[in-house]
Amino acid sequence: MSIEPALHPDLRSEAGPLSSPAAGLAAALAAALAPVPGRALSAALIGRGIGESRTPRMHRAEGARLGLDYGYELVDFDRLGLPDTALPVAVAEARRLGLAGLNVTHPFKQAVIPLLDAVAPDAAAIGAVNTIVFADGRATGHNTDCWGFAESFRRSMAGAPLGRVVLVGAGGGGMAVGRALLDLGVEQLAIFDVDAGRAAAVAERLGRGDGAGRVTAAADVAEALGRADGLVNSTPMGMAKYPGLPVPATALRADLWVADIVYFPAETALLATARATGCRVLPGKGMAIFQAVKAFALFTGRTPDAEEMTRHFGAP
Ligand code: NAD
Repeated sequence: MSIEPALHPDLRSEAGPLSSPAAGLAAALAAALAPVPGRALSAALIGRGIGESRTPRMHRAEGARLGLDYGYELVDFDRLGLPDTALPVAVAEARRLGLAGLNVTHPFKQAVIPLLDAVAPDAAAIGAVNTIVFADGRATGHNTDCWGFAESFRRSMAGAPLGRVVLVGAGGGGMAVGRALLDLGVEQLAIFDVDAGRAAAVAERLGRGDGAGRVTAAADVAEALGRADGLVNSTPMGMAKYPGLPVPATALRADLWVADIVYFPAETALLATARATGCRVLPGKGMAIFQAVKAFALFTGRTPDAEEMTRHFGAP
């Protein structure tokens, strides 16, 4: 593998004189992954544009609260100036350094799968991994986004009708949410994406096994919403970079529940419009917290306190 990253200047000096690009990359990743040598338990989040992520603070604070010698680092490929081709080195370094595991986010949730020894059934069904556990010499992939959405829904949306649900956005998050909706008991799931091929591919994957006969790709989102009980947004629409609604405001009705998985900002334009329409709503913060709750348990073997993790997540 030939890797010639434009390493962040801070890391160049931390890594020392580079004997080769690959050695320099490994050294830079080692510095980013394990700034406290000898720590009993470490984990990290790997992805791009993750500088503002609240996941490290949730893990660190809960580890400290439980009295664990537990560190959680951020390996932002954008900040480090690393190419996507450095992903295998990053996973290998994390393993070599003895990390308990990695959280994996955009754009690596699918690319990481061929680097693993095993994939848990939830992640295999979804086709995406957001958590890797290193144990007994094996790297096993999990998907805690799926359980995270389902748990958030169970806690805040008890009694919400689950006959027909429209899922908008068939990317990494959408695939996990689609599987979660089936686990929650949704009878008919219609998936819409501006990229019709993606919607069709995810509908095909989720329609296997217990999803058979329950999942379709929708060609017209307004038409699908006309017959729906619930709507979930899994597109980036609503984030500062992508302002606006993912569906026409006129398609919202008071008897439709509306969930968003975007959590920056906490109150998206979709949630605000849905609230004003009289809809029951579920913000994305809960999924972000509960994916971390499950990952923390996988990394540390300890059961975190969900209320405390919510407090660590902080104000919106
Ligand atoms: P992604 O890029 O993998 O997928 C987004 C999908 O949305 C793409 O398939 C794209 O074609 C589609 N899309 C974009 N605009 C659309 C529109 N107007 N109508 C229909 N489809 C549209 O992104 P992702 O990783 O799935 O993340 C999506 C959002 O979910 C991001 O804002 C991310 O931060 C958020 N997210 C939140 C959590 C959480 O824990 N709350 C977890 C994962 C992702």
